[in-house]
Amino acid sequence: MQYITKSYDETHNLGVEFASKLKEGTLIALDGDLGAGKTAFTTGVASGFGVTETVTSPTFTIVNEYRSGRIPVFHFDVYRLSSMDDLYDIGWDDYVAQNGIILMEWASIVKDDLDYPYYEINITKRLDLGDDVREISIEYRGEKL
Ligand code: ADP
Ligand code: MG
Repeated sequence: MQYITKSYDETHNLGVEFASKLKEGTLIALDGDLGAGKTAFTTGVASGFGVTETVTSPTFTIVNEYRSGRIPVFHFDVYRLSSMDDLYDIGWDDYVAQNGIILMEWASIVKDDLDYPYYEINITKRLDLGDDVREISIEYRGEKL
């Protein structure tokens, strides 16, 4: 599915709406340039699950955990990692075992090694259409293509 958003709020709200369709244990792999809106979308998904804490980018911490919602929400940013091995080192299996929602920014860094299924979300700046325009594609990856 392809979507166009024209503001931060529209991207956030798309995340809220998307969350309403998700089951616990879902992995969401996000990619897009710096400032594309990966965190904006993530804040929407988190609030869709009832998270009340402020969701901030985990660039330096790799993962932030939010437990104020209906199920745990784990927000990874793997920009500083180089492979899936780095994720295992910080306890990936323990996060997966908690059966929450996992959102991962810069997922392409580890995507070849992620377990299926997951949602693949790509956000592209459409500067040709305006400074605040983003194209967001959401695809379900049930198994390796
Ligand atoms: P990322 O996590 O991909 O680096 P962020 O979500 O942190 O990006 O930041 C997106 C930036 O782009 C914010 O400053 C936001 O205000 C701005 N912005 C402008 N238009 C949009 C849009 N349509 N969707 C999301 N963010 C937008
Ligand atoms: Mg971000």
